[in-house]
Amino acid sequence: MKKIITYFLFFSSLFLSLPVSAADPSPPFTLPPLPYAENALEPYISARTLFYHYGKHHQGYVDTLNKLLKEKGLIASSLEQVIEMSSKSPALKTVFNNAAQDWNHTFYWSSMIPGGGGQPTGPILNLILKTFGNYDEFKKQFMEAGTKLFGSGWVWLVLDNHNELKIVPTKDADLPMIHDQKALLTCDIWEHAYYLDYQNRRKDYVEVFLDHLVNWDFANQNLLK
Ligand code: MN
Repeated sequence: MKKIITYFLFFSSLFLSLPVSAADPSPPFTLPPLPYAENALEPYISARTLFYHYGKHHQGYVDTLNKLLKEKGLIASSLEQVIEMSSKSPALKTVFNNAAQDWNHTFYWSSMIPGGGGQPTGPILNLILKTFGNYDEFKKQFMEAGTKLFGSGWVWLVLDNHNELKIVPTKDADLPMIHDQKALLTCDIWEHAYYLDYQNRRKDYVEVFLDHLVNWDFANQNLLK
């Protein structure tokens, strides 16, 4: 029931452009903790990169989202709800961008783990073999998606709505959930993700991500969700 009321308030605010005054407003969104220390991904991603990427960029998306929601008088029960709603309204593009970037970064931190990378095990390996024939072919196609994406964005491993495994590049803040796809893992292709450590060598960064950082357990967990 509470969810229905929240939906109603959210929609009312979209269509009537009236500020929503709720007796029980949703609390501001907060920056989720990093799942490891800022230096835990060295030497592949430096503590300096994570200091800025997590502490400044990700924090910035969270702060801007809270500011926009307050300014527009919008409330929501979850980040996913903000993303779904704002993705359907061109007037809420900035809300969408900041909410999606918050979600994307949280998902990206969990897509990596110290000592990760290399060929996976478990159900995700079986799917990769079924879809790409072998791991090297998967790696080749994932790296191509990362290097060919023009400008800023993300490369995702997803299950589409036919339960097929796909490598999907997205632009800017775009993300699988609004395309009826289930995200399994992601690599941030925005320059701020790698520039301090790899400068213009995006290909090297994506290869290091696959060889040394990917958290395949996270992908396996997401498969089961
Ligand atoms: Mn980023």
